[in-house]
Amino acid sequence: MRRAAPATTALPATSATSGNASIPATSQPDRRNLAIMSECPHVAELPRPEPAPRTHTCPRCEAAGTHHVQLRLCLVCGHVGCCDSSPMRHATAHHLETGHAVMRTLEEGEDWRWCFVDNALV
Ligand SMILES: [Zn+2]
Ligand SMILES: [Zn+2]
Ligand SMILES: [Zn+2]
Repeated sequence: MRRAAPATTALPATSATSGNASIPATSQPDRRNLAIMSECPHVAELPRPEPAPRTHTCPRCEAAGTHHVQLRLCLVCGHVGCCDSSPMRHATAHHLETGHAVMRTLEEGEDWRWCFVDNALV
């Protein structure tokens, strides 16, 4: 003796498929991943004029005998450290140790700043 679907599993079929796949535009996430200059509050806190580089190479690489690839200047205190392509990543280490947020490249011909906290060019 077979019974059809029990009455409890009978779902209303009215709202299942309406035909048009329009997604409400208001469902965008609130998180902003875009690097917009005005979104970084740390740049405004930087000393002006910017601190002069304390050294012309990465002193910790110098001491350890490791090789740096490129150099980064901490715009808070003038610390010079090596970039993330270098084996020791002393610029990032400096940020982790001090909380100093913004550095810039020390490479000739390059002109950009990076905020460690916002993870963005600023
Ligand atoms: Zn920032
Ligand atoms: Zn280094
Ligand atoms: Zn610093």
